[in-house]
Amino acid sequence: ASRAFNNRPTFTGLVVVLAASSGGGLVAYADSQPDQPQGFKKKKVVVLGTGWAGTTFLRNLDSKLYDVQVISPRNYFAFTPLLPSVTCGTVEPRSVVEPIRRILEKKGGDFKFWEAECFKIDPANKKIHCRSNVETNLDGNGEFLVDYDYLVVAVGARSNTFNTPGVTENCHFLKEVEDAQKIRRSVMDCFEKASLPYLNEEERKKNLHFVVVGGGPTGVEFAAELHDFVTEDLSKLYPSIQHLVKISLIEAADHILTMFDKRITNFAEDKFGRDGIDVKTGYKVVKVSKDAITMQNPATGDIAVPYGMAVWSTGIGTRPFVVDFMKQIGQANRRVLATDEWLRVRECDDVYAVGDCATINQRRVMEDISEIFRVADKDKSGTLTVKEIQDILEDIYVRYPQVKLYMESKQMNGIADLIRTGKGDTEKESVDLSIEEFKKALSLVDSQVKNLPATAQVAAQQGQYLATCFNKMQAAEENPEGPIRIRGEGRHRFNPFRYRHLGQFAPLGGEQTAAQLPGDWVSIGHSSQWLWYSVYATKQISWRTRALVISDWGRRFIFGRDSSGI
Ligand code: FAD
Repeated sequence: ASRAFNNRPTFTGLVVVLAASSGGGLVAYADSQPDQPQGFKKKKVVVLGTGWAGTTFLRNLDSKLYDVQVISPRNYFAFTPLLPSVTCGTVEPRSVVEPIRRILEKKGGDFKFWEAECFKIDPANKKIHCRSNVETNLDGNGEFLVDYDYLVVAVGARSNTFNTPGVTENCHFLKEVEDAQKIRRSVMDCFEKASLPYLNEEERKKNLHFVVVGGGPTGVEFAAELHDFVTEDLSKLYPSIQHLVKISLIEAADHILTMFDKRITNFAEDKFGRDGIDVKTGYKVVKVSKDAITMQNPATGDIAVPYGMAVWSTGIGTRPFVVDFMKQIGQANRRVLATDEWLRVRECDDVYAVGDCATINQRRVMEDISEIFRVADKDKSGTLTVKEIQDILEDIYVRYPQVKLYMESKQMNGIADLIRTGKGDTEKESVDLSIEEFKKALSLVDSQVKNLPATAQVAAQQGQYLATCFNKMQAAEENPEGPIRIRGEGRHRFNPFRYRHLGQFAPLGGEQTAAQLPGDWVSIGHSSQWLWYSVYATKQISWRTRALVISDWGRRFIFGRDSSGI
Protein backbone atom coordinates (compact mmCIF):
# COMPACT_ATOMS: atom_id res chain seq x y z
CA ALA A 1 0.00 0.00 0.00
CA SER A 2 1.10 3.52 -0.63
CA ARG A 3 2.30 5.87 2.06
CA ALA A 4 -1.00 7.57 2.55
CA PHE A 5 0.12 11.12 3.15
CA ASN A 6 2.70 11.20 0.42
CA ASN A 7 1.04 9.40 -2.39
CA ARG A 8 -2.45 9.32 -3.63
CA PRO A 9 -4.44 6.95 -1.53
CA THR A 10 -7.26 4.86 -2.94
CA PHE A 11 -10.24 4.48 -0.71
CA THR A 12 -10.60 0.76 -0.60
CA GLY A 13 -9.34 -0.14 2.82
CA LEU A 14 -10.00 -0.05 6.54
CA VAL A 15 -8.46 2.15 9.26
CA VAL A 16 -8.03 0.46 12.62
CA VAL A 17 -7.12 2.19 15.91
CA LEU A 18 -5.85 -0.13 18.66
CA ALA A 19 -7.06 1.06 21.99
CA ALA A 20 -9.81 -0.89 23.65
CA SER A 21 -11.98 -3.73 22.49
CA SER A 22 -14.39 -6.39 23.58
CA GLY A 23 -15.62 -9.69 22.32
CA GLY A 24 -13.88 -12.46 20.47
CA GLY A 25 -13.89 -14.64 17.41
CA LEU A 26 -12.78 -13.73 13.95
CA VAL A 27 -13.96 -10.36 12.86
CA ALA A 28 -16.07 -10.10 9.74
CA TYR A 29 -16.74 -6.80 8.04
CA ALA A 30 -19.90 -5.86 6.21
CA ASP A 31 -19.25 -4.82 2.64
CA SER A 32 -22.43 -2.84 2.13
CA GLN A 33 -22.04 0.85 2.95
CA PRO A 34 -25.39 2.46 2.21
CA ASP A 35 -24.28 6.11 2.74
CA GLN A 36 -21.66 5.89 0.02
CA PRO A 37 -21.92 5.84 -3.75
CA GLN A 38 -22.01 2.39 -5.29
CA GLY A 39 -18.63 0.80 -5.65
CA PHE A 40 -17.18 2.93 -2.84
CA LYS A 41 -15.68 0.91 -0.04
CA LYS A 42 -14.56 2.69 3.06
CA LYS A 43 -11.07 2.06 4.22
CA LYS A 44 -10.74 0.36 7.57
CA VAL A 45 -8.93 2.26 10.29
CA VAL A 46 -8.02 0.32 13.41
CA VAL A 47 -7.16 2.38 16.47
CA LEU A 48 -5.29 0.73 19.35
CA GLY A 49 -5.83 2.53 22.68
CA THR A 50 -8.39 4.79 24.32
CA GLY A 51 -6.00 7.11 26.10
CA TRP A 52 -5.18 10.71 25.29
CA ALA A 53 -3.88 10.11 21.79
CA GLY A 54 -6.42 7.48 20.67
CA THR A 55 -9.45 9.29 22.10
CA THR A 56 -8.45 12.67 20.68
CA PHE A 57 -7.93 11.04 17.30
CA LEU A 58 -11.37 9.43 17.46
CA ARG A 59 -13.10 12.61 18.60
CA ASN A 60 -11.66 14.54 15.68
CA LEU A 61 -11.96 11.90 12.96
CA ASP A 62 -14.72 12.25 10.40
CA SER A 63 -16.18 8.79 10.89
CA LYS A 64 -18.28 9.04 7.71
CA LEU A 65 -15.10 8.59 5.72
CA TYR A 66 -13.85 5.39 7.34
CA ASP A 67 -14.86 2.13 8.89
CA VAL A 68 -13.36 2.68 12.33
CA GLN A 69 -12.57 -0.07 14.80
CA VAL A 70 -11.26 0.66 18.26
CA ILE A 71 -9.45 -1.90 20.40
CA SER A 72 -8.34 -1.34 23.97
CA PRO A 73 -8.20 -3.36 27.20
CA ARG A 74 -10.14 -0.63 29.00
CA ASN A 75 -13.47 0.68 27.86
CA TYR A 76 -12.98 4.22 29.08
CA PHE A 77 -10.82 7.31 28.74
CA ALA A 78 -8.98 8.37 31.91
CA PHE A 79 -8.00 11.95 32.70
CA THR A 80 -4.50 11.03 33.97
CA PRO A 81 -3.44 14.47 35.30
CA LEU A 82 -5.96 14.02 38.12
CA LEU A 83 -4.78 10.52 39.14
CA PRO A 84 -2.58 11.86 41.98
CA SER A 85 -5.74 13.52 43.36
CA VAL A 86 -7.52 10.14 43.23
CA THR A 87 -4.84 8.51 45.42
CA CYS A 88 -5.91 10.58 48.42
CA GLY A 89 -9.61 10.93 47.75
CA THR A 90 -9.49 14.58 46.67
CA VAL A 91 -11.24 13.45 43.50
CA GLU A 92 -13.22 10.23 43.06
CA PRO A 93 -12.16 7.64 40.43
CA ARG A 94 -15.44 7.85 38.53
CA SER A 95 -15.03 11.59 38.13
CA VAL A 96 -11.92 11.18 35.98
CA VAL A 97 -13.18 8.56 33.54
CA GLU A 98 -15.55 8.70 30.61
CA PRO A 99 -16.82 5.51 28.89
CA ILE A 100 -15.43 5.28 25.37
CA ARG A 101 -18.77 4.06 24.04
CA ARG A 102 -20.39 7.26 25.29
CA ILE A 103 -17.70 9.33 23.57
CA LEU A 104 -18.16 7.40 20.32
CA GLU A 105 -21.94 7.51 20.56
CA LYS A 106 -21.88 11.31 20.97
CA LYS A 107 -19.67 11.55 17.95
CA GLY A 108 -22.05 9.46 15.85
CA GLY A 109 -20.82 7.67 12.76
CA ASP A 110 -19.41 4.27 12.06
CA PHE A 111 -17.36 3.18 15.10
CA LYS A 112 -16.92 -0.28 16.55
CA PHE A 113 -15.27 -0.96 19.88
CA TRP A 114 -13.80 -4.17 21.33
CA GLU A 115 -12.46 -4.50 24.83
CA ALA A 116 -9.29 -6.50 24.24
CA GLU A 117 -5.57 -6.00 24.04
CA CYS A 118 -3.44 -6.30 20.97
CA PHE A 119 -0.56 -8.69 21.59
CA LYS A 120 1.00 -8.79 18.13
CA ILE A 121 1.14 -6.56 15.08
CA ASP A 122 1.73 -8.32 11.77
CA PRO A 123 2.58 -5.48 9.35
CA ALA A 124 3.42 -7.85 6.48
CA ASN A 125 -0.16 -9.15 6.36
CA LYS A 126 -1.75 -5.99 7.76
CA LYS A 127 -3.32 -7.83 10.66
CA ILE A 128 -3.29 -7.46 14.39
CA HIS A 129 -3.66 -10.25 16.92
CA CYS A 130 -5.93 -9.46 19.85
CA ARG A 131 -6.98 -11.13 23.06
CA SER A 132 -10.16 -10.42 24.96
CA ASN A 133 -9.93 -10.21 28.74
CA VAL A 134 -13.03 -12.37 29.11
CA GLU A 135 -12.22 -15.36 26.88
CA THR A 136 -15.33 -15.43 24.78
CA ASN A 137 -14.45 -17.09 21.48
CA LEU A 138 -15.11 -20.71 20.51
CA ASP A 139 -11.61 -21.86 21.45
CA GLY A 140 -12.02 -20.28 24.86
CA ASN A 141 -8.78 -18.35 24.55
CA GLY A 142 -10.42 -15.09 23.55
CA GLU A 143 -8.01 -14.52 20.67
CA PHE A 144 -9.03 -12.98 17.36
CA LEU A 145 -7.52 -11.35 14.30
CA VAL A 146 -8.34 -7.95 12.91
CA ASP A 147 -7.15 -6.71 9.54
CA TYR A 148 -6.63 -3.08 8.70
CA ASP A 149 -5.98 -0.65 5.93
CA TYR A 150 -4.57 1.90 8.34
CA LEU A 151 -3.43 1.17 11.85
CA VAL A 152 -3.13 3.89 14.49
CA VAL A 153 -1.01 2.71 17.40
CA ALA A 154 -1.89 4.76 20.48
CA VAL A 155 -1.14 2.28 23.24
CA GLY A 156 0.82 4.56 25.58
CA ALA A 157 3.64 3.16 27.66
CA ARG A 158 4.21 1.02 30.72
CA SER A 159 5.87 1.97 33.99
CA ASN A 160 9.60 1.43 33.84
CA THR A 161 11.35 -0.33 36.72
CA PHE A 162 14.77 -0.26 35.01
CA ASN A 163 14.96 -3.94 36.08
CA THR A 164 15.44 -2.92 39.71
CA PRO A 165 14.94 -6.07 41.79
CA GLY A 166 11.78 -6.24 43.88
CA VAL A 167 10.04 -3.19 42.41
CA THR A 168 7.25 -5.03 40.59
CA GLU A 169 6.48 -7.19 43.62
CA ASN A 170 6.64 -4.54 46.34
CA CYS A 171 5.93 -1.09 44.90
CA HIS A 172 2.81 0.63 43.70
CA PHE A 173 2.78 2.32 40.31
CA LEU A 174 0.70 5.34 39.42
CA LYS A 175 -0.34 4.90 35.81
CA GLU A 176 -3.94 3.71 35.76
CA VAL A 177 -7.09 4.50 37.72
CA GLU A 178 -6.83 1.09 39.43
CA ASP A 179 -3.31 2.01 40.60
CA ALA A 180 -4.63 5.17 42.22
CA GLN A 181 -7.40 3.21 43.95
CA LYS A 182 -4.89 0.64 45.26
CA ILE A 183 -2.66 3.41 46.61
CA ARG A 184 -5.60 4.99 48.40
CA ARG A 185 -6.46 1.68 50.11
CA SER A 186 -2.83 1.03 50.93
CA VAL A 187 -2.38 4.45 52.61
CA MET A 188 -5.37 3.77 54.85
CA ASP A 189 -4.12 0.23 55.58
CA CYS A 190 -0.80 1.66 56.72
CA PHE A 191 -2.55 4.03 59.14
CA GLU A 192 -4.82 1.28 60.48
CA LYS A 193 -1.93 -1.14 60.89
CA ALA A 194 0.13 1.48 62.69
CA SER A 195 -2.77 2.00 65.11
CA LEU A 196 -2.96 -1.65 66.21
CA PRO A 197 -2.35 -2.13 69.94
CA TYR A 198 0.42 -4.75 69.82
CA LEU A 199 2.92 -2.78 67.68
CA ASN A 200 5.99 -1.12 69.14
CA GLU A 201 7.11 2.38 68.20
CA GLU A 202 9.60 1.17 65.55
CA GLU A 203 6.95 -0.94 63.82
CA ARG A 204 4.50 1.96 63.84
CA LYS A 205 7.15 4.23 62.32
CA LYS A 206 7.89 1.66 59.64
CA ASN A 207 4.23 1.40 58.67
CA LEU A 208 3.95 5.16 58.47
CA HIS A 209 6.99 5.66 56.29
CA PHE A 210 5.75 6.49 52.79
CA VAL A 211 8.40 6.43 50.11
CA VAL A 212 8.03 7.97 46.67
CA VAL A 213 10.71 6.98 44.16
CA GLY A 214 11.14 9.50 41.33
CA GLY A 215 11.20 13.28 41.59
CA GLY A 216 9.38 14.01 38.33
CA PRO A 217 6.00 15.75 38.18
CA THR A 218 3.97 12.65 39.10
CA GLY A 219 6.12 11.67 42.10
CA VAL A 220 6.25 15.25 43.36
CA GLU A 221 2.50 15.76 42.99
CA PHE A 222 1.74 12.50 44.77
CA ALA A 223 4.09 13.38 47.66
CA ALA A 224 2.39 16.80 47.94
CA GLU A 225 -1.12 15.28 47.86
CA LEU A 226 -0.20 12.73 50.50
CA HIS A 227 1.29 15.42 52.73
CA ASP A 228 -1.93 17.47 52.45
CA PHE A 229 -4.07 14.40 53.17
CA VAL A 230 -2.03 13.60 56.27
CA THR A 231 -1.88 17.13 57.68
CA GLU A 232 -5.39 18.28 56.78
CA ASP A 233 -7.41 15.11 57.36
CA LEU A 234 -5.64 12.09 58.86
CA SER A 235 -3.85 13.98 61.64
CA LYS A 236 -7.26 14.70 63.20
CA LEU A 237 -8.36 11.07 62.92
CA TYR A 238 -5.12 9.45 64.08
CA PRO A 239 -3.83 11.98 66.64
CA SER A 240 -1.74 9.46 68.61
CA ILE A 241 0.39 8.37 65.66
CA GLN A 242 0.43 11.40 63.40
CA HIS A 243 3.85 12.53 64.67
CA LEU A 244 5.34 9.23 63.40
CA VAL A 245 4.40 9.82 59.76
CA LYS A 246 7.30 10.37 57.38
CA ILE A 247 7.21 11.01 53.63
CA SER A 248 10.44 10.51 51.66
CA LEU A 249 10.99 11.48 48.06
CA ILE A 250 13.98 9.76 46.44
CA GLU A 251 15.50 11.08 43.22
CA ALA A 252 18.66 9.87 41.45
CA ALA A 253 19.44 13.26 39.87
CA ASP A 254 20.74 16.26 41.80
CA HIS A 255 17.34 17.95 41.89
CA ILE A 256 13.65 17.17 41.66
CA LEU A 257 11.49 18.53 38.80
CA THR A 258 14.52 18.86 36.56
CA MET A 259 12.35 19.47 33.50
CA PHE A 260 11.07 22.70 35.06
CA ASP A 261 12.68 26.11 35.41
CA LYS A 262 15.34 26.34 38.14
CA ARG A 263 13.13 28.74 40.14
CA ILE A 264 10.41 26.08 40.35
CA THR A 265 12.87 23.35 41.32
CA ASN A 266 14.29 25.51 44.09
CA PHE A 267 10.87 26.56 45.35
CA ALA A 268 9.63 22.95 45.39
CA GLU A 269 12.70 21.70 47.28
CA ASP A 270 12.42 24.54 49.84
CA LYS A 271 8.69 24.03 50.29
CA PHE A 272 9.05 20.29 50.77
CA GLY A 273 11.84 20.98 53.28
CA ARG A 274 9.53 23.27 55.25
CA ASP A 275 6.70 20.72 55.04
CA GLY A 276 8.92 18.00 56.50
CA ILE A 277 9.01 15.91 53.31
CA ASP A 278 12.45 14.29 53.23
CA VAL A 279 13.81 14.97 49.73
CA LYS A 280 16.77 12.68 49.04
CA THR A 281 18.44 13.74 45.81
CA GLY A 282 21.44 11.93 44.34
CA TYR A 283 20.19 8.56 45.64
CA LYS A 284 19.51 5.66 43.33
CA VAL A 285 17.20 2.89 44.51
CA VAL A 286 18.91 -0.44 43.77
CA LYS A 287 16.64 -2.96 45.51
CA VAL A 288 13.23 -3.14 47.10
CA SER A 289 12.34 -5.94 49.50
CA LYS A 290 9.13 -6.50 51.44
CA ASP A 291 10.45 -4.51 54.39
CA ALA A 292 13.15 -2.18 53.14
CA ILE A 293 14.23 -0.01 50.25
CA THR A 294 17.94 -0.04 49.49
CA MET A 295 19.40 3.07 47.92
CA GLN A 296 22.86 4.05 46.83
CA ASN A 297 24.81 7.27 47.02
CA PRO A 298 28.54 7.60 46.22
CA ALA A 299 29.18 9.31 49.57
CA THR A 300 27.16 7.03 51.82
CA GLY A 301 27.21 3.69 49.99
CA ASP A 302 24.15 1.45 50.36
CA ILE A 303 21.43 2.46 52.83
CA ALA A 304 18.41 0.26 53.59
CA VAL A 305 15.37 2.06 54.99
CA PRO A 306 12.27 0.32 56.34
CA TYR A 307 9.02 1.49 54.76
CA GLY A 308 5.27 0.94 54.93
CA MET A 309 4.30 1.81 51.39
CA ALA A 310 6.29 2.74 48.27
CA VAL A 311 5.20 4.34 45.02
CA TRP A 312 7.49 3.89 42.02
CA SER A 313 7.33 6.74 39.55
CA THR A 314 10.61 6.90 37.68
CA GLY A 315 9.51 7.01 34.08
CA ILE A 316 8.00 4.98 31.30
CA GLY A 317 9.08 2.16 29.04
CA THR A 318 7.94 0.58 25.79
CA ARG A 319 5.25 -2.13 25.91
CA PRO A 320 6.59 -5.62 25.07
CA PHE A 321 4.38 -6.14 21.98
CA VAL A 322 5.54 -2.77 20.64
CA VAL A 323 9.16 -3.86 21.17
CA ASP A 324 8.37 -6.99 19.17
CA PHE A 325 6.80 -4.87 16.41
CA MET A 326 9.88 -2.61 16.37
CA LYS A 327 12.10 -5.66 15.90
CA GLN A 328 10.01 -6.77 12.92
CA ILE A 329 10.41 -3.43 11.18
CA GLY A 330 14.10 -2.92 11.87
CA GLN A 331 13.75 -0.52 14.78
CA ALA A 332 15.22 -2.87 17.38
CA ASN A 333 17.83 -0.30 18.42
CA ARG A 334 15.26 2.45 19.05
CA ARG A 335 13.77 3.25 22.42
CA VAL A 336 10.30 4.13 21.14
CA LEU A 337 8.56 3.74 17.80
CA ALA A 338 10.30 6.06 15.36
CA THR A 339 7.93 8.06 13.17
CA ASP A 340 8.45 10.71 10.54
CA GLU A 341 7.10 14.26 10.75
CA TRP A 342 3.69 13.01 9.59
CA LEU A 343 3.55 10.49 12.44
CA ARG A 344 3.90 7.54 10.08
CA VAL A 345 5.91 4.69 11.52
CA ARG A 346 9.18 4.52 9.64
CA GLU A 347 9.66 1.59 7.29
CA CYS A 348 6.08 0.46 7.76
CA ASP A 349 3.33 1.39 5.32
CA ASP A 350 -0.02 2.57 6.65
CA VAL A 351 0.89 2.37 10.32
CA TYR A 352 0.84 5.52 12.42
CA ALA A 353 1.99 5.98 16.01
CA VAL A 354 0.86 8.70 18.40
CA GLY A 355 1.30 9.51 22.08
CA ASP A 356 3.66 7.99 24.62
CA CYS A 357 4.45 4.90 22.50
CA ALA A 358 6.10 7.20 19.97
CA THR A 359 7.27 10.04 22.20
CA ILE A 360 10.50 9.66 23.98
CA ASN A 361 10.43 10.47 27.64
CA GLN A 362 12.54 13.39 28.70
CA ARG A 363 14.98 11.52 30.86
CA ARG A 364 15.79 9.25 27.94
CA VAL A 365 16.20 12.22 25.64
CA MET A 366 18.71 13.68 28.00
CA GLU A 367 20.58 10.38 28.15
CA ASP A 368 20.63 10.24 24.36
CA ILE A 369 21.85 13.79 24.02
CA SER A 370 24.53 13.19 26.64
CA GLU A 371 25.64 10.15 24.68
CA ILE A 372 25.83 12.25 21.54
CA PHE A 373 27.92 14.80 23.43
CA ARG A 374 30.23 12.06 24.64
CA VAL A 375 30.68 10.82 21.10
CA ALA A 376 31.46 14.34 19.90
CA ASP A 377 33.96 14.74 22.72
CA LYS A 378 36.01 11.80 21.51
CA ASP A 379 37.44 13.95 18.76
CA LYS A 380 39.86 16.23 20.52
CA SER A 381 41.31 17.65 17.32
CA GLY A 382 39.11 20.70 17.72
CA THR A 383 37.06 20.34 14.56
CA LEU A 384 34.54 17.88 13.23
CA THR A 385 34.19 16.73 9.67
CA VAL A 386 30.98 17.37 7.83
CA LYS A 387 30.39 13.67 7.78
CA GLU A 388 30.75 13.42 11.56
CA ILE A 389 28.36 16.28 12.08
CA GLN A 390 25.92 14.80 9.62
CA ASP A 391 26.05 11.44 11.37
CA ILE A 392 25.43 12.94 14.78
CA LEU A 393 22.61 15.12 13.55
CA GLU A 394 21.00 12.35 11.54
CA ASP A 395 20.95 10.31 14.69
CA ILE A 396 19.19 13.12 16.53
CA TYR A 397 16.77 13.71 13.66
CA VAL A 398 15.77 10.08 13.41
CA ARG A 399 15.07 9.93 17.11
CA TYR A 400 13.49 13.37 17.32
CA PRO A 401 12.08 14.58 14.01
CA GLN A 402 10.73 17.66 15.76
CA VAL A 403 14.27 18.82 16.41
CA LYS A 404 14.90 18.93 12.69
CA LEU A 405 11.75 20.96 12.17
CA TYR A 406 12.73 23.25 14.98
CA MET A 407 16.13 23.93 13.47
CA GLU A 408 14.64 24.55 10.09
CA SER A 409 11.90 26.78 11.45
CA LYS A 410 14.55 28.87 13.21
CA GLN A 411 16.59 28.96 10.02
CA MET A 412 19.52 28.12 12.19
CA ASN A 413 22.95 29.06 10.99
CA GLY A 414 25.77 26.78 11.90
CA ILE A 415 24.95 23.13 12.15
CA ALA A 416 21.69 23.15 10.21
CA ASP A 417 23.41 25.10 7.44
CA LEU A 418 26.26 22.66 7.53
CA ILE A 419 23.90 19.82 6.93
CA ARG A 420 22.39 21.54 3.92
CA THR A 421 25.70 22.55 2.39
CA GLY A 422 27.57 19.49 3.54
CA LYS A 423 25.87 17.13 1.09
CA GLY A 424 28.42 15.41 -1.06
CA ASP A 425 31.41 16.63 0.93
CA THR A 426 34.03 14.09 1.71
CA GLU A 427 34.58 12.41 5.01
CA LYS A 428 38.03 13.91 5.41
CA GLU A 429 37.02 17.49 4.94
CA SER A 430 36.92 19.37 8.21
CA VAL A 431 34.78 22.38 8.79
CA ASP A 432 35.35 25.54 10.64
CA LEU A 433 33.37 24.50 13.69
CA SER A 434 35.01 23.78 16.99
CA ILE A 435 33.60 21.16 19.30
CA GLU A 436 32.72 23.95 21.71
CA GLU A 437 30.66 25.70 19.03
CA PHE A 438 29.08 22.45 18.09
CA LYS A 439 28.11 21.79 21.71
CA LYS A 440 26.68 25.28 21.96
CA ALA A 441 24.55 24.61 18.92
CA LEU A 442 23.47 21.30 20.36
CA SER A 443 22.41 22.99 23.56
CA LEU A 444 19.62 24.51 21.46
CA VAL A 445 18.59 20.99 20.70
CA ASP A 446 18.72 20.29 24.39
CA SER A 447 16.39 23.20 25.17
CA GLN A 448 14.05 22.10 22.41
CA VAL A 449 13.75 18.53 23.62
CA LYS A 450 12.68 19.87 26.97
CA ASN A 451 9.51 20.74 25.12
CA LEU A 452 9.01 17.20 23.86
CA PRO A 453 8.04 15.27 26.95
CA ALA A 454 5.77 12.23 26.94
CA THR A 455 2.72 14.13 28.08
CA ALA A 456 -1.00 14.24 27.53
CA GLN A 457 -0.47 17.54 25.75
CA VAL A 458 1.77 15.99 23.11
CA ALA A 459 -0.46 12.90 22.79
CA ALA A 460 -3.63 14.96 22.33
CA GLN A 461 -2.05 17.28 19.77
CA GLN A 462 -0.76 14.31 17.80
CA GLY A 463 -4.18 12.62 17.88
CA GLN A 464 -5.84 15.79 16.65
CA TYR A 465 -3.25 16.37 13.93
CA LEU A 466 -3.53 12.83 12.62
CA ALA A 467 -7.33 12.98 12.52
CA THR A 468 -7.10 16.20 10.50
CA CYS A 469 -4.80 14.46 8.01
CA PHE A 470 -7.16 11.49 7.72
CA ASN A 471 -10.12 13.84 7.24
CA LYS A 472 -8.38 15.68 4.42
CA MET A 473 -6.98 12.65 2.67
CA GLN A 474 -9.97 12.22 0.39
CA ALA A 475 -10.18 15.93 -0.46
CA ALA A 476 -6.47 15.96 -1.22
CA GLU A 477 -6.99 13.02 -3.52
CA GLU A 478 -9.79 14.77 -5.35
CA ASN A 479 -7.94 18.08 -5.65
CA PRO A 480 -4.37 17.19 -6.44
CA GLU A 481 -3.67 20.76 -7.54
CA GLY A 482 -4.50 22.16 -4.09
CA PRO A 483 -1.88 23.63 -1.77
CA ILE A 484 1.06 21.30 -1.58
CA ARG A 485 4.09 21.70 0.58
CA ILE A 486 7.33 21.09 -1.24
CA ARG A 487 10.09 19.39 0.64
CA GLY A 488 13.47 18.05 -0.32
CA GLU A 489 12.50 14.53 -1.13
CA GLY A 490 9.00 14.89 -2.48
CA ARG A 491 5.59 16.52 -2.45
CA HIS A 492 3.47 16.26 0.64
CA ARG A 493 -0.17 17.10 1.04
CA PHE A 494 0.07 17.90 4.71
CA ASN A 495 2.18 20.12 6.85
CA PRO A 496 4.25 18.10 9.26
CA PHE A 497 3.16 17.75 12.86
CA ARG A 498 4.30 20.63 15.01
CA TYR A 499 4.04 20.53 18.76
CA ARG A 500 2.79 23.69 20.45
CA HIS A 501 3.91 23.80 24.06
CA LEU A 502 1.21 25.41 26.17
CA GLY A 503 3.03 25.25 29.49
CA GLN A 504 3.04 22.87 32.41
CA PHE A 505 1.99 22.74 36.05
CA ALA A 506 3.51 21.22 39.15
CA PRO A 507 1.06 21.18 42.08
CA LEU A 508 3.10 21.39 45.28
CA GLY A 509 0.41 21.03 47.94
CA GLY A 510 -1.03 23.53 50.41
CA GLU A 511 -3.06 25.10 47.59
CA GLN A 512 0.14 26.17 45.84
CA THR A 513 1.10 25.28 42.29
CA ALA A 514 4.07 26.13 40.10
CA ALA A 515 3.21 27.04 36.53
CA GLN A 516 5.69 27.37 33.69
CA LEU A 517 3.98 28.93 30.73
CA PRO A 518 5.25 29.61 27.20
CA GLY A 519 8.04 32.16 27.04
CA ASP A 520 9.42 30.69 30.28
CA TRP A 521 6.93 32.71 32.26
CA VAL A 522 6.95 31.29 35.77
CA SER A 523 4.32 31.74 38.42
CA ILE A 524 4.29 29.98 41.79
CA GLY A 525 1.74 30.15 44.56
CA HIS A 526 -1.96 30.34 45.31
CA SER A 527 -2.88 32.25 42.16
CA SER A 528 -1.37 29.50 40.00
CA GLN A 529 -3.40 26.98 41.97
CA TRP A 530 -6.55 28.76 40.79
CA LEU A 531 -5.19 28.75 37.25
CA TRP A 532 -4.62 24.99 37.66
CA TYR A 533 -8.23 24.52 38.83
CA SER A 534 -9.59 26.46 35.85
CA VAL A 535 -7.39 24.75 33.26
CA TYR A 536 -8.16 21.25 34.50
CA ALA A 537 -11.88 21.98 34.79
CA THR A 538 -11.86 23.32 31.22
CA LYS A 539 -9.87 20.38 29.86
CA GLN A 540 -12.35 17.75 31.08
CA ILE A 541 -13.58 15.53 28.30
CA SER A 542 -17.32 15.94 29.03
CA TRP A 543 -19.72 18.13 30.99
CA ARG A 544 -20.45 15.10 33.18
CA THR A 545 -16.82 14.67 34.32
CA ARG A 546 -16.44 18.46 34.61
CA ALA A 547 -19.41 18.64 36.96
CA LEU A 548 -18.16 15.64 38.97
CA VAL A 549 -14.62 16.96 39.33
CA ILE A 550 -15.76 20.44 40.37
CA SER A 551 -18.21 19.00 42.90
CA ASP A 552 -15.42 16.73 44.28
CA TRP A 553 -13.24 19.81 44.80
CA GLY A 554 -16.14 21.57 46.51
CA ARG A 555 -16.85 18.53 48.72
CA ARG A 556 -13.20 18.38 49.75
CA PHE A 557 -13.20 22.10 50.71
CA ILE A 558 -16.32 21.64 52.86
CA PHE A 559 -16.03 18.14 54.34
CA GLY A 560 -12.38 17.20 53.81
CA ARG A 561 -11.19 13.98 52.15
CA ASP A 562 -12.82 10.64 52.84
CA SER A 563 -10.58 8.37 54.92
CA SER A 564 -12.51 5.08 54.63
CA GLY A 565 -10.29 2.54 52.93
CA ILE A 566 -12.71 1.70 50.12
P1 FAD B 1 -2.43 6.50 27.43
O1 FAD B 1 -3.23 7.70 27.80
O2 FAD B 1 -1.69 5.79 28.50
O3 FAD B 1 -3.39 5.49 26.69
C1 FAD B 1 -2.97 4.23 26.23
C2 FAD B 1 -4.19 3.44 25.82
O4 FAD B 1 -3.76 2.22 25.18
C3 FAD B 1 -5.06 3.01 26.99
O5 FAD B 1 -6.39 3.09 26.62
C4 FAD B 1 -4.66 1.56 27.21
O6 FAD B 1 -5.69 0.81 27.82
C5 FAD B 1 -4.45 1.14 25.76
N1 FAD B 1 -3.62 -0.06 25.62
C6 FAD B 1 -2.61 -0.47 26.40
N2 FAD B 1 -2.11 -1.63 25.94
C7 FAD B 1 -2.83 -1.95 24.84
C8 FAD B 1 -2.81 -3.03 23.93
N3 FAD B 1 -1.94 -4.02 24.07
N4 FAD B 1 -3.70 -3.05 22.93
C9 FAD B 1 -4.59 -2.06 22.78
N5 FAD B 1 -4.66 -1.00 23.61
C10 FAD B 1 -3.78 -0.94 24.62
N6 FAD B 1 0.52 14.69 31.06
C11 FAD B 1 0.29 16.00 31.01
O7 FAD B 1 0.38 16.58 29.92
N7 FAD B 1 -0.06 16.71 32.11
C12 FAD B 1 -0.19 16.14 33.33
O8 FAD B 1 -0.52 16.80 34.32
C13 FAD B 1 0.03 14.74 33.42
N8 FAD B 1 -0.11 14.11 34.61
C14 FAD B 1 0.04 12.76 34.66
C15 FAD B 1 -0.18 12.11 35.86
C16 FAD B 1 -0.05 10.74 35.95
C17 FAD B 1 -0.29 10.05 37.26
C18 FAD B 1 0.30 10.00 34.79
C19 FAD B 1 0.42 8.50 34.86
C20 FAD B 1 0.52 10.63 33.59
C21 FAD B 1 0.40 12.02 33.51
N9 FAD B 1 0.62 12.70 32.32
C22 FAD B 1 0.40 14.04 32.24
C23 FAD B 1 1.12 11.98 31.13
C24 FAD B 1 -0.02 11.55 30.25
O9 FAD B 1 -0.99 10.85 30.97
C25 FAD B 1 0.48 10.67 29.14
O10 FAD B 1 1.50 11.32 28.44
C26 FAD B 1 -0.67 10.35 28.19
O11 FAD B 1 -1.61 9.55 28.86
C27 FAD B 1 -0.18 9.63 26.96
O12 FAD B 1 -1.28 9.36 26.15
P2 FAD B 1 -1.34 8.04 25.28
O13 FAD B 1 -2.63 8.08 24.55
O14 FAD B 1 -0.10 7.88 24.52
O15 FAD B 1 -1.35 6.85 26.35
